[in-house]
Amino acid sequence: MGDVRVAVVGAGVCGVTTALELQALGVRDVVVLDARHPGDGSSGLSVGMVETQYVEVPDIAVRAHGRRYYDAVERDHGLTFVRGGYLRTAHDGADLADYERSVRRQREAGVPDAEVLDAAEIARRWPQLVVDDLTGGLYGPSDGHIDGYEYCTLAARLVRERGGRVLPGTPLVGAESLPGGGWRLVTGREPVEADVVVNAAGPWAGVVGDLLGAPVPLVPQLHGAVTVELAAPLTPLLPFVMDYVPGSGQAGVYFRSERADQLVAGLHVEEAVAESVSPDVPLGRVDDAFLEELVERMGERLADTDGAGIGRSWTGIYPMTPDHRPIVGRHPARADVVCAVGGGGNGIQLAPAIGRVAAEALTGAADPTFAATDPGWDPARIADGAPAGPASAQTP
Ligand SMILES: Cc1cc2nc3c(=O)[nH]c(=O)nc-3n(C[C@H](O)[C@H](O)[C@H](O)COP(=O)(O)OP(=O)(O)OC[C@H]3O[C@@H](n4cnc5c(N)ncnc54)[C@H](O)[C@@H]3O)c2cc1C
Repeated sequence: MGDVRVAVVGAGVCGVTTALELQALGVRDVVVLDARHPGDGSSGLSVGMVETQYVEVPDIAVRAHGRRYYDAVERDHGLTFVRGGYLRTAHDGADLADYERSVRRQREAGVPDAEVLDAAEIARRWPQLVVDDLTGGLYGPSDGHIDGYEYCTLAARLVRERGGRVLPGTPLVGAESLPGGGWRLVTGREPVEADVVVNAAGPWAGVVGDLLGAPVPLVPQLHGAVTVELAAPLTPLLPFVMDYVPGSGQAGVYFRSERADQLVAGLHVEEAVAESVSPDVPLGRVDDAFLEELVERMGERLADTDGAGIGRSWTGIYPMTPDHRPIVGRHPARADVVCAVGGGGNGIQLAPAIGRVAAEALTGAADPTFAATDPGWDPARIADGAPAGPASAQTP
């Protein structure tokens, strides 16, 4: 495996993490090419939550892996990882029963501190939250957020220090499959030769898949986030509050303290409820309809926001697949293309697992990390076209 030449297309969280995992598994010749520069796609536009507050065992396993991975990057390389906590709200007794199960499963996955809180306890800890309609919540005190841009930049540096190459300003524009095997990649700059290509192009993965003759179904979704500037400092600081019911098909609000006088907030929904957008859609500020819905939903969950105003806003793309699960592994039509795509609204927290699974698929690692808890990411499911509806919930 040491001699296989791998080209990773895309230097977002999925691409740079796959490159590092390939190097960890002994692949020496790794080149990452990016049309722009590391972190300049969705990864630099996310709100960066890394958490494990899920119910199903595979969903918890891949996120627990992500938490441990970013803990290690913080410890060993100084990544900023702000552990402000994460609260997923519960709206009925069934949610609470699920959350009790989650706490047990998280412990088994090595996350010891998740807890179920009742509504009174939530109100006691964070008096600013409106809890009248809640039965409680699932709280991860050591969950937190990273800055996707900072991580991509740092990881790109590590790839280089470990002997790999990272080529910014190098778009893949064509690909020639060589008769004896391998690829000659046509880029905006010098050609790149490789034995295997990793498609980690985020929202552009459909375009890159087509160039490689290894199509992937994507339904890129436009999302946005804002800062909320508060008239008075909030104490205590708020954790990341996720007020979204998975599977509801309706956007839910999320918000967290960035500083005492500033929140970061947005609307999240699992399903691809909006029209797919082109990966090249112009990005900018959120629109008025988004703001109206956000302000209304925040007002239902957060008291005392008099005098608050919207500060900065931005949009970015969830690189979502039709069944909301990442597609990771060797492509069913071309074994010399490995997919590391489809992080949707979870790509930051899933990238460590996506990178690991992609690198293991490429190297044929003997003891796959997630063998016992298959997350359902196998590209085999796209062999006959786009996968049908969702198989498991994926929420940030
Ligand atoms: C507002 C918002 C909030 C979010 N919040 C969270 C969150 O809290 N937690 C979470 O886990 N996730 C979150 N996400 C989702 C997360 O940002 C994405 O899932 C993740 O960043 C996708 O990473 P990626 O590496 O697949 O894609 P990208 O980061 O988009 O990287 C793809 C790269 O490929 C490059 N590229 C494209 N085409 C080519 C080509 N032809 N040749 C060479 N290079 C190419 C691009 O330049 C880009 O750098 C959020 C997203 C948004 C928009």
